[in-house]
Amino acid sequence: MKVTIVGAGNVGASCAEYIAQKRIASEVVLLDIKKGIAEGKALDLTQTATTLGFNTTIKGVTNDYSLTSGSDVVVITSGVPRKPGMTREELIDINAGIVQEVSSSILEYSPDTIIVVVSNPMDTMTYLALQSSGLSKNRIIGMGGALDSSRFKSYLSIALNKPANDIQGMVIGGHGDTTMIPLTRLASYNGAPVSQYLDEKTLDKVAADTMIGGATLTKLLGTSAWYAPGASVSYLVDSILNNHKRMIPCSVLLEGEYGLKDICIGVPCIIGSKGVESIVDIKLNEKEKQQMIESANKVTAMNTTLKGIL
Ligand code: NAD
Repeated sequence: MKVTIVGAGNVGASCAEYIAQKRIASEVVLLDIKKGIAEGKALDLTQTATTLGFNTTIKGVTNDYSLTSGSDVVVITSGVPRKPGMTREELIDINAGIVQEVSSSILEYSPDTIIVVVSNPMDTMTYLALQSSGLSKNRIIGMGGALDSSRFKSYLSIALNKPANDIQGMVIGGHGDTTMIPLTRLASYNGAPVSQYLDEKTLDKVAADTMIGGATLTKLLGTSAWYAPGASVSYLVDSILNNHKRMIPCSVLLEGEYGLKDICIGVPCIIGSKGVESIVDIKLNEKEKQQMIESANKVTAMNTTLKGIL
């Protein structure tokens, strides 16, 4: 199985590293517009194969899409990341052109591929990739909810003082500081509702920390994070290539699900070899439904801004 990652920056390279280490694909191609960066990172990663024990081949290329030919999955991480104090939405001007151009180049060489969009503002970039490519909606998947959910579970495990892998939880809605919806009501410690162990104030703090999880890291690192984003992309790619049919919150086109239409936004999806195999309808309470409407309104406003740019 072949995976191409466009954008060999922090997130792209980290994603390639996890895909190889976890033996998710037999071949990874890293492509970047900056001369030498993809080749350099691919070579460096290749030289970890014997110590880490994987056989995935990793090739790097500067803007030559012919090498990406026949990719089963393409991950788009090209574009600019945010700097401290910036919102993801402020990246729209630069990243829209990049995502549009990259998706059309990719499809020239891999017409049957599944595209995973990572570049921010991710929900709007997913919508753009879908509209501009004309691909069927199951083949364009925005990655944000997988990352936000892993941050949510991580903050819950700290608050509970329990192992992170004993925690279940999900974040839906937009992938933005004010649009994501950590579903604290449904989070559990091995099936027991976390509300049995954490009071409302603590749960509210976990949700708030999750929502600004990316911004907290951007402030510390001076640029946006890459380990958890790269790992989350690899988790999603694994579910596609190995047909795991995991339930993962992803940004996908809604056509009436959750009462929403003509929008890509995070909802729980079954992810398998066809990409988005189905959307899972979880019963939201009135407060969560209202949060979803508010989140969707903000994502739609961003999509409207996009239409003004293109
Ligand atoms: P980075 O600056 O480290 O890497 C981006 C790379 O894209 C650079 O190497 C750049 O040369 C390359 N690039 C730019 N234009 C290109 C083009 N036209 N073709 C090919 N390559 C091109 O940034 P990063 O930290 O890796 O972040 C990448 C993107 O992912 C940003 O938009 C960031 O906001 C986003 N991101 C999303 C999530 C998420 O959960 N969806 C998480 C983290 C970061």
